[in-house]
Amino acid sequence: MFITAQFDSGNIEVIEANEPSAIQLAIRKDNQSDFYQWFHFKLYAEPGVEHVMTITNAGQSAYPDGWKDYSALASYDRETWFRVPTEYNGKELVIRHSPDQESVYYAYFTPYSYERHMDLIQWTQQSIECDHVLLGPTLDGRDMNLLIVGEPADHKAKIWVTARQHPGESMAEWFIEGFLSRLLDDEDGAARRLLETCVFYIVPNMNPDGSVRGHLRTNAAGVNLNREWAEPSLEKSPEVYYVLNAMQQTGVDFYLDVHGDEALPYNFLAGCEGVPSYNDKTHQIGEQFKQVLLSITPEFQTEYGYEIDKPGEANLTVASNAVSERFNCLAFTLEMPFKDNANLPDVDFGWSANRSQQFGADVLSAIYGIANSLRS
Ligand SMILES: [Zn+2]
Repeated sequence: MFITAQFDSGNIEVIEANEPSAIQLAIRKDNQSDFYQWFHFKLYAEPGVEHVMTITNAGQSAYPDGWKDYSALASYDRETWFRVPTEYNGKELVIRHSPDQESVYYAYFTPYSYERHMDLIQWTQQSIECDHVLLGPTLDGRDMNLLIVGEPADHKAKIWVTARQHPGESMAEWFIEGFLSRLLDDEDGAARRLLETCVFYIVPNMNPDGSVRGHLRTNAAGVNLNREWAEPSLEKSPEVYYVLNAMQQTGVDFYLDVHGDEALPYNFLAGCEGVPSYNDKTHQIGEQFKQVLLSITPEFQTEYGYEIDKPGEANLTVASNAVSERFNCLAFTLEMPFKDNANLPDVDFGWSANRSQQFGADVLSAIYGIANSLRS
C-alpha cells in the first residue's frame, strides 16, 4: 500500500498506512494559513479489499458543516469521478471504498488541473472573438490570464466574470469552461447576439498558485483573496491588484464571481444589498436575472443561500461588494455545492464537473435575458 499527493493540487499527510482497514490521514493547512479542507491523493490499493481511510483532522477544518451528508469523490481514470461511502462523526471523516483496480485517486471535488487550465487558455486564444491578455505574475511566478471576448466598444456593456479566488472550489473553473464553450461557439445565436452588445472579461482562475499547491482558500502567501478587494497589494495579493486595475480601465456593468460553498447543497446567488450605492435599478435587474435563471434550469433556486446584508453593512473587502460599490453596478457571488443539489440529487455523482459546465452555459443564457437592461 502506498499513498501520495506529490502532484498538481495534491494534498494529504499520511499518519499511518499499514493496514487497509486502518488508514490514518490528515489534510495539510494552506501555506501560512490555518485554512484547510481540500484533499486530493492517490492510493495504491489491494483490489477487492475494503480500504477505510480516516481523515483525522476533519473536525477542525475550515467548514466542518461541509462534511455533513458529504461523500468523497474517487476516480480510476481521472476523468470520471464518482462518490464513495463517507461518514462524518463530528470529528473524523471516514471514507470506505473497495477499489476494483490497483490504484485510485480521491478528492474533495473533481480536480481542475493546471494542465487543463493552460489548455483552456490556449484553446480560447484560437477564437477570433477572444483576446488573451497577460495581467502579470503571481507570487510563485505563474501567469495571471484575462480573456477578453468580443470587440471592446464604449457603447457595449462590460461583463466581468472571475472564478476560483478560493482554489479548492474547482467547480468554479468547470463552470467557466461551460460558460466559455457556449460564448465562443460561433453557431450559438444567443452568444453571437450577446457579443453585439456586450464585451466579456473573464478570469478563469484567480488563484493559480493556490490551485497547484492544493490549497482550499488562500494564495501562495496564505492570503484569502476574497478579503483583499478594498486594498490589494503586489506583495500580498497581486492577483486581485491586477484584476482591479484592469476593471478600472474597462469599467464594469455586471460582475459575477464564481465560487463553491462547502455546506449548502444548492446553487445560489449572493447579492450586494448591503453596499452603500445599492439602488432600485440594481435590485430590479438582479431580480430579473434570477427569474430568468430560475426559468432556464432546476439547478438554480432562491430559497436557500446566505443571509442578505442589511443596507450599508456589506463587507467591502469582498470582491462582489467592492466591485458593485466602486463601479455602481450589479454584482453577485455565485455559489455551487461541493455535495449535491438537494432539489435534484444524483446519488452516483452528486454535484459534478459536467453539471458545473452545464450551469455555466445556462448562466450565459440568463445574461442574454438581461443584457438589454444592463446599459439602458
Ligand atoms: Zn469561495
